[in-house]
Amino acid sequence: MTENIPFIDLKTQYAELKQSIDGRIQTVLDHGQYIMGPEVKEMEVKLAAYVGVRHCVSVSSGTEALLIALMALGVGPGDEVITSPFTFAATAEVIALVGATPVFVDIEPDTFNINCDLVEQAITSKTKAIIPVSLYGQTADMQALETISIQYGIPIVEDAAQSLGATHDGRRSGGLSSFGCVSFFPSKPLGCYGDGGALFTDSDELAKIAREIRVHGQERRYIHKRIGVGGRMDTLQCAVVLAKLERFDWEVERRNFMGQRYLDLLKSNLSIGLATVRPQNTCVWAQFTVRVDRRQAVVDALKAHGIPTAVHYPIPLHKQEAYSAISRVASSLAEAERAANTVFSLPLHPYLAEETQNFIARSLIDAVAEG
Ligand SMILES: *Cc1c(COP(=O)(O)O)cnc(C)c1O
Repeated sequence: MTENIPFIDLKTQYAELKQSIDGRIQTVLDHGQYIMGPEVKEMEVKLAAYVGVRHCVSVSSGTEALLIALMALGVGPGDEVITSPFTFAATAEVIALVGATPVFVDIEPDTFNINCDLVEQAITSKTKAIIPVSLYGQTADMQALETISIQYGIPIVEDAAQSLGATHDGRRSGGLSSFGCVSFFPSKPLGCYGDGGALFTDSDELAKIAREIRVHGQERRYIHKRIGVGGRMDTLQCAVVLAKLERFDWEVERRNFMGQRYLDLLKSNLSIGLATVRPQNTCVWAQFTVRVDRRQAVVDALKAHGIPTAVHYPIPLHKQEAYSAISRVASSLAEAERAANTVFSLPLHPYLAEETQNFIARSLIDAVAEG
């Protein structure tokens, strides 16, 4: 049996939401306020309420959200920022862009998230921020990080690019730290039809600074109080997010369900390594990621069955040419390296049929047995 299974199904989602999305886009075309139109504010108000914080500042991408967060916190040359080496490059890129040094500590093998015990050991007098990544849709131990944050006076910036809709201790990802940074890249749990992102914060002061940085550091028109960026999110993209928000609760529920269902289908096979969702967390499964030995053979066997896969991420950042010389390694990174060599992700999206999921799980179990 071969099928043509999409890794992420944006076409079915559009078909389901067509009326709403088309209507929202048409409204923008009619009023013509393409920059900072009414949909921008509407989205910010709705998302701040959703995440449960006072402020949402929409920006041009998840990367820009992280960059603006570090700029707003005053991170700069000579400073250090502690983060995970097992993430998309954007997390460390923004640290380097503000002139600071990325400091890498290892991950937990079962959640793929930063190991908080190692974070405390990596703190020096230069540490100006900590960026935990809520990888694959589950937050790190934000409670432990909050304790460290208070004790040392170091702000936390959550890279929540993959985790909007997830919760930690009943609170939503994005609203758990000084800044939460979200991406609306099309394949993320809440995606627009291009680039987009947002910062979340409870601080009136940090929100004001982030809003100024977003528009070239302007306090008001042509009054530049600080260095900023051109970082606004388009009105059209906000309109798409607003349309998709109507169905987001259902999609998050569906993601929780499909992720748990994969775990149930695969857990009896001890050759397939599965992620753990911590009891205080819910996971939005931006990726459903497993570990196997001999990954290439398994991925090839699945491909022969029409099942697409992806590796997030094949090379940890401390091994990347751009970062190896300018970063500091503060612990053994053996778990990050082992994860990079063994992980791959299976198709998971809210519109995945259970029958298709059964087929994927069966094919994976067969592929692992063949090897
Ligand atoms: C997608 C992603 C980003 C960057 O978001 P963009 O909107 O593509 O700039 C940053 N960090 C992580 C972990 C991501 O998955």
